Amino acid sequence: MHRPIVATFVFTDLHMDNGHKTPPSKAPTLYSWRWDKSDLNYYHDCSRVSLGNVTVPSHLVSCVSHCCGQDHSHLINQYYGSIIDALQQAASAAVVRIPVSSLKPYWNEHLDQLKRDSMFWHSLWQSAGRPRSGTLYHIQRSCKAKFKSGIRDAYLNYESRYDDVLVDNILRKKPNEFWKAWSSKFRKNINQNIKFKDCVSDSEVANKFAEKFSSVFYNSATDSSAVSEFLQAYESYRTSSENVYDNVYDYAAMFSVEVIDNCVRGLSLGKACGPDSLSAEHLRYAHPSIMVHLKLLFYFIVTHRVVPDQFGYGIIVPLMKDKSADLNDIDNYRPITLIPILSKVFESVMLTLCEDLLQTSNLQFGFKKGVGCTNAIFAFKTTVGHFVNNGSCVYAAALDVSKAFNRVNHFKLFRTLVNSRIPLAFIDVLCHWSGKLCCVVR
Ligand SMILES: [Zn+2]
Repeated sequence: MHRPIVATFVFTDLHMDNGHKTPPSKAPTLYSWRWDKSDLNYYHDCSRVSLGNVTVPSHLVSCVSHCCGQDHSHLINQYYGSIIDALQQAASAAVVRIPVSSLKPYWNEHLDQLKRDSMFWHSLWQSAGRPRSGTLYHIQRSCKAKFKSGIRDAYLNYESRYDDVLVDNILRKKPNEFWKAWSSKFRKNINQNIKFKDCVSDSEVANKFAEKFSSVFYNSATDSSAVSEFLQAYESYRTSSENVYDNVYDYAAMFSVEVIDNCVRGLSLGKACGPDSLSAEHLRYAHPSIMVHLKLLFYFIVTHRVVPDQFGYGIIVPLMKDKSADLNDIDNYRPITLIPILSKVFESVMLTLCEDLLQTSNLQFGFKKGVGCTNAIFAFKTTVGHFVNNGSCVYAAALDVSKAFNRVNHFKLFRTLVNSRIPLAFIDVLCHWSGKLCCVVR
């Protein structure tokens, strides 16, 4: 006997196990701006329109130095954000952007043409029923062969493109340029198949790097004597007659459009973008009104002694130290931090303005323009040679300061700046900035 039954089921939090594992989350695609394939005039026009729409918080212009007006730092943040938005808008409308992974470094326009021809004749040959003889067959074959040999030639050209440069740099005795070309030629693709012990997914690898790099972090505030020495020096500078810059008009004149424009021109092109997805090209090719916005932004920063929150964000990219060593050893990587482009310009402007005050010893060769390791070695060798030739013995001691740059105590650094008598507002800005720093690993 059959009886009809009606039943109602209520499922909450239903889990279906269909035997498939959830696909691993895809890594976010990285894009690269192709300025060489874009219409720069069009970008210039787009940026003129988008930058024209940026609202300037004009009442901040009349703020006095050290203004703590309510919400003013919020307005600076907003202003910064709208400048960045304007540049990004103009770029996405006018600049070609392609995934980094799709780039074949040796590809050129000639190959584009050969590829188009080959595809055209191939589809014609296909629609004709793939004949094994006749004119169509021969044209299809020859186009395909031309395309293939074109790729081979381009690849070989690409591989040998550094040969002349290498020879040339040896002849002209340019060791730095030589090694640059050398490492470009023999650079391995290091992004693949890196597996650390106990790490399964990419995010675990990234966390491992984050753990490693943050272990280097040194909290400057733990050295209380450095803090109090800094505060003392700061206070005596603030109240002294040497504190001559603490005047709004000085700063307004200092941050001139000319200085900012020079600093923007000094940025290297073709570098990776920071967390704002902007590079030096975005500023270089933008409408000149960007300089006026930067002047105002920097002026607001200095009179209020705060930097936009975004200035503190960085993306750490682990770079391999030695390509022939173990790729799966975390100690074989050093961190490079990508920072927002406007913070780079601001830094460079401050450095330009303080250049005369920041003198270093003639015997310092690191972190200085135009000198480096070779100069240090030369100075060392000539000194040793001089004494040895005059019949003396020479004893040398070397000190290897590991991670010296990362472990600098900020308060000692700031005290050095106070002693150099750089404008007080700059020191305040740097103090505020260093409290905002945070990074993620890519
Ligand atoms: Zn204010």
